Amino acid sequence: MTQINNLRNIAIIAHVDHGKTTLVDAMLRQSGIFRENEQVVDLVMDSNDIERERGITILAKNTAITYNGIRINIVDTPGHADFGGEVERVLKMVDGVLLVVDAYDGPMPQTRFVLRKALEMKLKPLVVINKIDRTDARPVEVVDMVLELFMELGADDDQLDFPIVYASGRNGISCLDLNGPGDLDTMPQATDFRPLLDTIIEVIPCPEGDSTAPLQLLVSNIDSDNYVGRIAIGRIVRGTINQNQNIAVTTYGEDSVRNARVVKLMRFEGLHRTEISSATVGEIVCVAGISDINIGDTICVPSNPEPLPFINIDEPTISMTFSVNDSPFAGREGKFVTSRHIRDRLFKEIETNVSMRVEETDTMDAFLIKGRGELHLSILIETMRREGYEFQVSKPKVILKEIEGVLSEPVELVLIDVPEEFVGVVIEKLGRRRAELINMQPPEKGYSRLEFRIPSRGLIGYRSEFLTDTKGNGIMNSVISGFEPYKGEIEIRNHGVLVAFESGEAVTYGLYNAQERGNLFIGPGTPVYEGMIVGSNPRSEDIVVNVCKKKHVTNMRASGADDSLRLVPPLQYSLEQYLEFVADDELIEVTPKTIRLRKRILNTEMRAKNRSAKTSDA
Ligand code: GDP
Repeated sequence: MTQINNLRNIAIIAHVDHGKTTLVDAMLRQSGIFRENEQVVDLVMDSNDIERERGITILAKNTAITYNGIRINIVDTPGHADFGGEVERVLKMVDGVLLVVDAYDGPMPQTRFVLRKALEMKLKPLVVINKIDRTDARPVEVVDMVLELFMELGADDDQLDFPIVYASGRNGISCLDLNGPGDLDTMPQATDFRPLLDTIIEVIPCPEGDSTAPLQLLVSNIDSDNYVGRIAIGRIVRGTINQNQNIAVTTYGEDSVRNARVVKLMRFEGLHRTEISSATVGEIVCVAGISDINIGDTICVPSNPEPLPFINIDEPTISMTFSVNDSPFAGREGKFVTSRHIRDRLFKEIETNVSMRVEETDTMDAFLIKGRGELHLSILIETMRREGYEFQVSKPKVILKEIEGVLSEPVELVLIDVPEEFVGVVIEKLGRRRAELINMQPPEKGYSRLEFRIPSRGLIGYRSEFLTDTKGNGIMNSVISGFEPYKGEIEIRNHGVLVAFESGEAVTYGLYNAQERGNLFIGPGTPVYEGMIVGSNPRSEDIVVNVCKKKHVTNMRASGADDSLRLVPPLQYSLEQYLEFVADDELIEVTPKTIRLRKRILNTEMRAKNRSAKTSDA
């Protein structure tokens, strides 16, 4: 066993907005990693648009700095814990974690999940209390909260004795002790990140291993590059790897061995990858030249193929179908619309999105997609839409499975912060959805914190209700905690919809009449087709409306009368809201320009017949 003293591998765990990106950015600057002519992008790690908009990091990204001759590989962890597959893979590459916690907020539920995995994997934690410059910073309390959380998550004694560094990422400063209860004035000696970097070097164990043993490199991530194609990223667990060497690609539990060659060997340097001629145990490297390599594979030498066991990937909890758009407006707005396009894109997705699954269905035009929660799926939908794809998706369904003969369903932990006056309504509504209140903290600054355990099933459709009930003042976070025995029926009051009766263009007069029956999704001038959903109806029935109907013109004055009809501004639902709203007999039509709802059966008469057939069956 050799100790690789000049190397450290760490992962960063932080709740969205706790300042991870700013912190890493400052670390890169201070280690002089940016070349003079290089533009520093503000958000170095969160480079994907959708991630930024939703405030989460989905793809784990790597970066590295050199400090006092020691290389520190920094691996980002997903900001949202539902993508459990990603988390464990990433943590497999490192020996310690940097838990970045906001000096006012304290640890949040998402970080709890990732942190639990890190503690279970016996990684060494280092806690960074960040944003000490905040005027409302309360570092002493936050440290207590972290300690409490560590105990709750079953940290061992060594982990409980975690080192703490206080920092202000924005100011690029850090220190080991505060001269008071918090804020910038209490960190007088702090001038830069050296205290933080020194602590990393001191407390995070360096990698160990046998550099002369036969090579084993566990592939934890896949990237692709237009020039070199697929790139496998992972840590060398044993041995040494060289550019151009012959290798054997193996998969745990499978006998087959694929032969390949290291066409290009790289490692991380700042935000880039640089080519190297060889690397040894402990290092995180990128290997190009293997076209059929996958996450979880082990790269070995041909003379000694010995796959490493792979990380259990958390199972999907939600499924939905993606199908070819067959609405009357199909193909109008999308660039990629055929079943072939959609199929290829979905199968490409699962090459790198490990906790997602794609299954063929009995029709060529539809695919069953399974993921970790609605967010996981909605991000894929949004990504595809922006890439120019057009398709339809169905209502997300919770995946049920038998565990030791017991029907089980996914359950989530929900953390809610609401003004005191809404505590009652939240508890009541969630109670009806079979949530169990497991923790309630007394109000602080007028806000109470509630923690529930609830079947994912009960949560579907609740978010928008929550926003209405709390007048937009509540904050809700959830993470999937696992499968538990089925909790029994949940009665969720249904809403109905307003359905267009004919194809054409919606006009003020028609809309005016329709808005008496519910809340409209569209305004005048919107093209509609028969069977398209144009609004919601608070009661559970569907109402057919004729939004294209013009006022019968009898004279000139009457034709101008439309102007006096006042329309309520249409409801603007986001994709996530539509996913919660859509019913079983409906579909969401997604195109690069539009998201609309439709009935599966468009024809009004056929829909009515189908419904009466169903009710007489029952
Ligand atoms: P991330 O979501 O964890 O990557 O967080 P960002 O680095 O994007 O920062 C989130 C927000 O916190 C941004 O508005 C930053 O300007 C702000 N922020 C980051 N670091 C600090 C800090 O040290 N002090 C204060 N007061 N704000 C900070």
